[in-house]
Amino acid sequence: MGQRLTGRTCLVTAAGQGIGRATAVAFADEGARVIATDINESALASLSAARPDIAVERLDVCDRDAILAAARQHREVDVLFNCAGFVHHGTVLDVGEDDYDLSFDLNVRSAFRMSQAFLPSMLERESGRLLMVSSVASSIKGMANRCVYSATKAALIGLVKSMAADFVGQGIRVNAICPGTVQTPSLDERIAAQGGNPEDVRRAFVERQPMGRLGQPEEIAALVVYLASEESAFVTGQAFVIDGGLSM
Ligand code: NAD
Repeated sequence: MGQRLTGRTCLVTAAGQGIGRATAVAFADEGARVIATDINESALASLSAARPDIAVERLDVCDRDAILAAARQHREVDVLFNCAGFVHHGTVLDVGEDDYDLSFDLNVRSAFRMSQAFLPSMLERESGRLLMVSSVASSIKGMANRCVYSATKAALIGLVKSMAADFVGQGIRVNAICPGTVQTPSLDERIAAQGGNPEDVRRAFVERQPMGRLGQPEEIAALVVYLASEESAFVTGQAFVIDGGLSM
């Protein structure tokens, strides 16, 4: 328990599980008032049961009207953590038009919509932090079978850098977090979806890790807390790699 975010209001998307959930908990542990959002209401209910101090709300990051309503309701948000994202598996030959549109809508346009909705009240206060979850599979490293996913995560880095440049003089900081492979429920689903022996698929994920292990959501959350707090007051427009050496 710390106090690095005492007095701050932090809104997290995709907070039902994985990195979003771990970050919502880490924000609350640092004294923040946390609004945890997701489309999975049972995951939100389980978070609320485990941590009654965290407020939970359904929010679909693809629903512009719902986002605008949330921004009107929560004008006090200081830290916006855009965590929602989806991993499409495949090469350029495997990406249909629908996969392409869904990936860009959920991974990039969501962050654009959320930023457009929440930034104006941050600008009124001349204080705000916007954080986006990109990935090492982006402009940082070419990874097999991550074609459209990597394109979306590279686009997020461009969004972060341009927003940071536009508002650097108005108290706004914008940064990207670029994880390597992290042990989350969606990783388990991706392993199961690949067919074959799940233990062999998991071993292949671990073997490409120079540290010989996957990341934990709490390790990513620790970096997000730093970027959300005053400790990182001199930091903006950057893409922070946290990948156990995968891209070194
Ligand atoms: P996850 O994939 O296990 O969970 C994603 C959550 O997003 C779920 O709770 C789901 O209900 C929610 N969600 C899906 N569609 C939504 C929508 N339209 N609106 C709101 N919420 C929605 O979580 P994760 O693996 O921790 O991934 C979180 C982020 O981290 C993603 O952007 C992902 O691309 C990125 N990332 C993950 C890894 C990894 O290895 N897990 C690595 C690099 C980057």
